[in-house]
Amino acid sequence: NYDWINHIQQVIHDRQIHTIRVTVPDLSNISRARYIPVRHFLETAFKDTVSFPSVLFSMDTSAEIHKNVGSGFAGGFPNWQIQTDLSTFSILPYKQGVARVIGDLCDSNGSPIKQSPRHVLKKVLDTFQDLGYLVRGSFEYEFYVFVQEAARIEPVWKGLHCFSETKQAEVENIITTLFMHLTEMGAGPEVANTEYGSGQFEVTHSPFWGVEISDMAFYYRTSIKEILHGQGYKATFMSKPASARSGSGAHMNHSLYDQDGHNLFYDPSSADGLSDICRWFIGGQLTHAKALCALANPTINSYKRLVPHSFAPTTISWGYEHRGAMIRVPSGRGEVTRIENRLAGADTNPYIALAAVLAAGLDGILHKIEPSAPIQNTDPYGSDFEHLPSSLLEALRELEKNNWLRDSLGADFIEDYLSLRYAEYDRFLAHVTDWEMKEYFDIF
Ligand code: GLU
Ligand code: MG
Ligand code: MG
Repeated sequence: NYDWINHIQQVIHDRQIHTIRVTVPDLSNISRARYIPVRHFLETAFKDTVSFPSVLFSMDTSAEIHKNVGSGFAGGFPNWQIQTDLSTFSILPYKQGVARVIGDLCDSNGSPIKQSPRHVLKKVLDTFQDLGYLVRGSFEYEFYVFVQEAARIEPVWKGLHCFSETKQAEVENIITTLFMHLTEMGAGPEVANTEYGSGQFEVTHSPFWGVEISDMAFYYRTSIKEILHGQGYKATFMSKPASARSGSGAHMNHSLYDQDGHNLFYDPSSADGLSDICRWFIGGQLTHAKALCALANPTINSYKRLVPHSFAPTTISWGYEHRGAMIRVPSGRGEVTRIENRLAGADTNPYIALAAVLAAGLDGILHKIEPSAPIQNTDPYGSDFEHLPSSLLEALRELEKNNWLRDSLGADFIEDYLSLRYAEYDRFLAHVTDWEMKEYFDIF
């Protein structure tokens, strides 16, 4: 019961905020926003709601796609309402006088829109709360930065300079600018470095609790893009922006705590220091891995990241400190015991991905699902392991038949999610690619 209204009025005054963006995470991981001058925000948005056309909920906003999404034109695309969550109010230190707040979508009766990713996550978190579990974690984003050179975009640094101090010094302004603004926003950046691919970076941040894990990831991605755009760069969180270079992951570090703040993944009396809850949680995520893939890797492009020996997973596996496995259990124990699910690419929707891995983990806990043996001294990319889906289509078919996730995340959500993703797959299938022209044009 923190007095957010008072707090926000104070921030608006102190930081001379003149414009507020009300933002909504949509079903395709696009941040949709409406701009509101501060006067109108102060008069209305604390009490009333801001309207939002339900048309804007998919990736492709062309007329063609709308015929097939939800109830299409028969339903008339009524207005939804955005209810601002004042606890998400944040200044944008890189934009003078502009702030933003995340909103939840509701229908005209004030009931939450069941397809809204933030609603889906909150529903899963409520189930955890009822069982006495609190969720703590963070997304570990990798991304690429490019510069425009003549007609081409080129990576901002070139070569194989993962962690190279000299190379990082050349692009230090990128790292320090991100640190400065992300810190001021309260995002708590922790560690940054160059990654395996030319132009690739990683900036980790401190963990948050509950829905804030995803709110912060949602802000983080858009802020990094905006901050770098303001400096003349282009940042992308596509999972695989170049075929020959490393993909960008969004590893999900998470653990469960009890109401007193004690880590429920830790058990000092077990051989590996992991509790039953932790093992079963892993068991649930492995059991549902194929369907989870469709939710954590939502695009055609996501699957190009999931290739052998790239440090992204291709098999359903887990291991202690194993970077080839789908789930890596870092060595820290005690209050920092956690798991790192490496499935999601950087193009993931942080609300949907978190809701999905939590729901899968919960099945594990409730039904005491024992995971397979952890991999040790083994290359998990080998054929002995069960494989993750290798395309969006394969993953969607797995999701379609997964009743646990349909029940936990909501049938309305799953239906609309599938229809948007299948539509995306169909658009891709209908498109003649550069690869086909190169491969076939001359020889046939
Ligand atoms: N880029 C890898 C991925 O897509 C991760 C590399 C790393 O371990 O930092 O998941
Ligand atoms: Mg990394
Ligand atoms: Mg990691």
